[in-house]
Amino acid sequence: MSRLRYASLDALLTEVRACRACAPHLPLGPRPIVRVGADARILIVGQAPGIRVHETGIPWNDASGDRLRQWLGVDAATFLDESQFAIIPMGFCYPGRGKSGDNPPRRECAPLWLDRLLAQLPSIELTLLVGQYAQRHFLGARRKPTLTETVRAWKDYAPGFVPLPHPSPRNQPWFKQHPWFEDEVLPMLRERVGRLLRHGPAQSG
Ligand code: SF4
Repeated sequence: MSRLRYASLDALLTEVRACRACAPHLPLGPRPIVRVGADARILIVGQAPGIRVHETGIPWNDASGDRLRQWLGVDAATFLDESQFAIIPMGFCYPGRGKSGDNPPRRECAPLWLDRLLAQLPSIELTLLVGQYAQRHFLGARRKPTLTETVRAWKDYAPGFVPLPHPSPRNQPWFKQHPWFEDEVLPMLRERVGRLLRHGPAQSG
């Protein structure tokens, strides 16, 4: 990876961290949570930071993240290694809460930043689309009518993408109702992630 590319990614991240484009709509103010390294081979695109992630500044630093790491078969240190995983939500800042949980990612965010960040990540081989917002953006008309059908049709999006449900504890009933996800999708996911990690097989944890 060239020094020039590292420098331009750093410059872009400095711009992202200074972003206030939708500040009036953010109850706790802007705090973009993005973690990327120019050499990462796996990209995780989620929704938007929850409040615990906002407070700590660490992506997926909550119960959803614990489940996601279990799905991937990696420990927290590997997950936060920027040379392995790029972690970008559809909205970078905590969007506040609505009647039925956290608000959706701010619409202003992806058009401003997503393509510019992706252009700085030439080594990505696998993109995990966590939840409906990421699937809508990256798969567009290739999505199935429901998230469940999209996840179940994972072979249609291989090898570049794996669509996933959100690992939130709120989705526990979904996990129970769809045992094929654990039986079929997760082994494939762990195997692919393990192969793309640079320092040997995926660790459990
Ligand atoms: S959510 Fe995105 S667009 Fe809005 S302030 Fe944060 S970084 Fe900027």
